[in-house]
Amino acid sequence: MLTEKKVIDILQETGVLLQGHFLLTSGRHSEHYLQCARVFQFPDLAAELCRALAEKFNGLKPDVCIGPALGGIIIAYETARELNTRGIFAERDESGGMALRRGFAIHPGEKVLVLEDVVTTGGSVREVMNLVRAHGGQVLGVGSIVDRSNGQVDFGVPYQALVRLDIVSWEPADCPLCAKGIPAVKPGSRKR
Ligand SMILES: [Zn+2]
Repeated sequence: MLTEKKVIDILQETGVLLQGHFLLTSGRHSEHYLQCARVFQFPDLAAELCRALAEKFNGLKPDVCIGPALGGIIIAYETARELNTRGIFAERDESGGMALRRGFAIHPGEKVLVLEDVVTTGGSVREVMNLVRAHGGQVLGVGSIVDRSNGQVDFGVPYQALVRLDIVSWEPADCPLCAKGIPAVKPGSRKR
């Protein structure tokens, strides 16, 4: 049983969830920074996380697992392995919309799980859900490693996440870490 605490331990140990004083690309400041791709460097951990996620969908019997590129590729693949389904990904085409390329297909009536590494606004997930339905597929549910939507997201289908994280950010003028005189760093510049 992979508890939420154990998931957070894994995310911290693999440098996914960093603590400090970060300058985000949005210009805002935060005490935490999330880079989910880092855990997927480790296939055994990717498998462990996706196994736990797959267990949350026990009994649904999907035909396909799909995720949006890039963040959703490995989670869709590993969850597909656990559920013994096809694992595919959606990616942006020339028009900027989500598409099935590379010969991937969803057949009318197929039951589909949509997977993503981190859900913040849920925008990419919704685009993939629309894509699945446009191909005649039925969206059974949505799964992610991290839900950082602060409980704001509603996909209209069952949504399961391994962990919920509220990651607060501030405008620099309101940042309590700046007020304490702690220097802010860009996450990519950190030596880890
Ligand atoms: Zn700050």
